[in-house]
Amino acid sequence: MPPFPARSACLAIALSLAQPGIAFAQSGPSAVGAWGVAALVLLLSAVVVALWGARQRERRDRQRFELVARAISDGIYDLDLVVDRLWRSEAFCRMFGLPAEGAAHAVSDWLTRVHPDDRERIRLGYAQAMDGDATEWQVAYRYLRPDGGIGHVVDRLVIVRDERGQPVRAIGGVADVSDEQGAIERLALLRRALDASTTGVAIIDAQAPDMPCVYANRALVQMSGYPVEELLGRNLRLLQGAEREQPGLEMLRHAIREGRDGQALLRNWRKDGASYWVDLVVSPVRDGSGQLTHWVGSQADVSERVATEQALAHRATHDELTGLPNRQLFRDRLAQALRESKRFGLNLVVMFIDLDNFKLINDSLGHSAGDELLRTVARRLQGCLRQTDSVARFGGDEFVVLLLGEAETDVLRVVDRITEALRRPVALAGAVHYCTASIGYARCPQHGDEAGILLQRADMAMYQAKARGRNCAVGYEPTFDQGSAERLLLITQLREAVERKEFLLHYQPQFRWDGRAQGMEALLRWNHPVRGLLAPGHFIEALEESGLMAEVGRWVLRDAARRHAELVALGLGDVRLAVNVSATQLHHDLRADVEALVAEFALPPGALELELTESVLMVNAESTIEEMKRVDSLGVGIAVDDFGTGYSSLSYLKRLPIQRLKIDRSFVRGLGTDPDDEAICASVILLASSLGLDTVAEGVETEPQRDWLAEHGCGELQGYLLGRPASFDDVVAMIRAQRG
Ligand code: C2E
Ligand code: MG
Ligand code: MG
Repeated sequence: MPPFPARSACLAIALSLAQPGIAFAQSGPSAVGAWGVAALVLLLSAVVVALWGARQRERRDRQRFELVARAISDGIYDLDLVVDRLWRSEAFCRMFGLPAEGAAHAVSDWLTRVHPDDRERIRLGYAQAMDGDATEWQVAYRYLRPDGGIGHVVDRLVIVRDERGQPVRAIGGVADVSDEQGAIERLALLRRALDASTTGVAIIDAQAPDMPCVYANRALVQMSGYPVEELLGRNLRLLQGAEREQPGLEMLRHAIREGRDGQALLRNWRKDGASYWVDLVVSPVRDGSGQLTHWVGSQADVSERVATEQALAHRATHDELTGLPNRQLFRDRLAQALRESKRFGLNLVVMFIDLDNFKLINDSLGHSAGDELLRTVARRLQGCLRQTDSVARFGGDEFVVLLLGEAETDVLRVVDRITEALRRPVALAGAVHYCTASIGYARCPQHGDEAGILLQRADMAMYQAKARGRNCAVGYEPTFDQGSAERLLLITQLREAVERKEFLLHYQPQFRWDGRAQGMEALLRWNHPVRGLLAPGHFIEALEESGLMAEVGRWVLRDAARRHAELVALGLGDVRLAVNVSATQLHHDLRADVEALVAEFALPPGALELELTESVLMVNAESTIEEMKRVDSLGVGIAVDDFGTGYSSLSYLKRLPIQRLKIDRSFVRGLGTDPDDEAICASVILLASSLGLDTVAEGVETEPQRDWLAEHGCGELQGYLLGRPASFDDVVAMIRAQRG
């Protein structure tokens, strides 16, 4: 609908169109004869008939026009530009909420119904159309609907011009396109939503050959790194790169073949070659007839989630410290290997490797040194194995190896490789250490074809290796079963023994070279309910292994220390109480325990002495030196037990606050008969005196032994010859008798 009134220049044409008869009536009759009159009458009646016919036609045309205008929903208008008159159809008036009558201000009335923001644009467009030579013009604009809402119309106009090209009439139709416009806006909204989404969305043409992508949103472009032009028109398998056999892909192909929804976790590849994980959902799109026309694929980048899941899965199946597979993963691999071994008749070996003295290093050098050693061992073990073999850490210092298809000789070769690798020096806490291991192994099928049994038997063989003095490898033998069952029983009984207080102490006197009783060593005994009184050789290792040693050791210390008061009361206050201390105790607040005992029992300096074996003391640790110095400062002496059985560093020995070396009884045994033992004992005595230390010889059983030791300057003697371990009262009685 044009917004401007008509132009007066068009007036004549407009009149001639509206009233065609008037011009003719104005040309009046001329003076002619009767013939002429008759002819005129004839002519006139012909004209009247013609005129009447024309009017009839015109009426029919107009009627038809008005009926059509009423029948269609579009608003129709007819604007006479010459007289500035507007005719509007009913639909037009309804649409804009204008009165059907009163056309006086029709154009300006209509303009008030146009959305204010669109008015100026229409005005300009219309002026341009009219000023040019256009015969048609179209404009889309918003209008204020009678119900208060805003509608959308497209207004199409036909411009009638006179012979000079001036517009004289404009006939137009206004179609309400609110619904279409709404749809377009909704589409635009959806598109914006898709582009704002962080989920990658693609639309695939299901009917075109090779199913090309016909739409890809911004997220997909960003995720994949491909510009949108490189995605459109191509099959999106390009995102999976060369990885065409992913399990998720097979599931998707299945869903696509069956025309149903599908979901899969896929690894995709960016254009720059980096991989990322997506959770892809594909859904079929069908047209009105049910024909599948498109697929919509939406993919969320789940790389972070997958990375977390993988890390967790790795954590669940691997040992954090060494990165080796853990027990669970090893068992899976073993089960798999056993299946293969059965199918192909292959040999298989399960090997337990337990480090010797690891606990000592861990306790004395600290956990970080222990951790470092474990990592080193893990690396070295891996270096000893083939790709098909595997090694796992079962916890602590226990490693388990699985060898596939090995013959007996090959196993021994692997054992050699492992032993060699472990023997290489390891630098820990600033000093060099040497590591050995006890190795036990069991073979499939000879020793079993079940995972549990093989593991158990390899473990038993490993214990056997420990029992045989460590640093060796032992293959499973059926006789081992008995031993391990007994050991388990022993540990159970030891727990009960602690609860039932079945432990007691015997004492063995220690004598000066001239025979005077000087001290007494507390020796642990277990009063077993069935087996009777047991010496430590039967249970001390199991006690360490069960973790009960710290508790029992603490009890031993206290029980010995409390005896000092009794000795004082009997006039034996100068008799020293010697107590054996294990590595476990050394690292379970030994100093604090000793300090408390010294205070509680008012122990004077020299009343108590701790015996620690060489191997316990020799772990080169500053912390051990510090700990020993504090013990020393409490007036509690330190003796090195079983001296000569380990290997000592003299420079280290010098730094420890030691009073005494106890020559191991294995050297004492050969005195008077074995020149080697004699040489060793002589040099130990010499060494001690050069370091300013006293010596005690253990296990003196014969007089020649005693005499040899006395001759060679050994300060003290201990052994069956002079006094067997016995109850406190018996030993005290013996000493009192000796002293008279
Ligand atoms: P040890 O500290 O070297 O103790 C000396 C061992 O030699 C004792 O054995 C003693 O009975 C034995 N013995 C003494 N004289 C002779 C002899 O003339 N000939 C022979 N053949 N043996 C002799 P026992 O009591 O069986 O103790 C063995 C080891 O158990 C001890 O060796 C010590 O290392 C450990 N032990 C004993 N009691 C305790 C304790 O309370 N705590 C800790 N941690 N270890 C202990
Ligand atoms: Mg001892
Ligand atoms: Mg000893």
